[in-house]
Amino acid sequence: MATAPTRKGERRDPLVVRDLEFIGGMASAGGWRPEPTLPEIAFAGRSNVGKSSLINRLLSRKKIARVSNTPGRTREINFFKVNDAFVVVDLPGYGYARISKEKRAEWRPLIESYLAERSSLAGVLLLIDIRRGPQDEELDFVPWLEARKTPIVVALTKADKLAKNKRMLEIGKAKKALGLRRDPFPVSAQTGDGLDALWRAVLALVDKR
Ligand code: GDP
Repeated sequence: MATAPTRKGERRDPLVVRDLEFIGGMASAGGWRPEPTLPEIAFAGRSNVGKSSLINRLLSRKKIARVSNTPGRTREINFFKVNDAFVVVDLPGYGYARISKEKRAEWRPLIESYLAERSSLAGVLLLIDIRRGPQDEELDFVPWLEARKTPIVVALTKADKLAKNKRMLEIGKAKKALGLRRDPFPVSAQTGDGLDALWRAVLALVDKR
């Protein structure tokens, strides 16, 4: 990846978030979305997977969670412009156990309309709780994305909750269940483990655009 020289001539670390801007929320399938001028990376995962914690940690900003967890915004797709170079797209968490089946089904048209039609989509980062492994939603979602030739990076969240040998076991199981070509990334938003490797993989998708 090319690193832009700064005014003083030193190289900038592409992993460092220098600039972050909330650019808006998409509330319905046909609703507002930003002009597709920059590559977009969509973060997907079931509710409680640790998506807000991970986005906060990767973007080093507390205010992201505040935006995405504001009542009314939790069911929206939220767009954050990073370093004027790409956009992090926070998809609504799915599979929330405490809401009705009808409400649960609401995320599908919104998420699918965004993912299926978005010309600027550089890839999807799919988050799965390392202790739960892939469930029905993920087993459906991965082939759905692959059929559309959308690049996927899978991360297993809350890796700090498992001992190393158990972690390796879960990585292998998830890879096999989802038919992935490469290992999913074990990460912890709590300890920061695995975040640099994951961020590099995400930025590589942006670079491929
Ligand atoms: P979201 O619903 O996917 O946005 O999930 P949150 O980021 O709100 O996290 C859900 C719960 O998991 C919270 O209680 C977090 O403190 C916890 N959590 C998130 N990331 C981690 C992690 O890396 N390690 C551990 N142990 N807990 C985490």
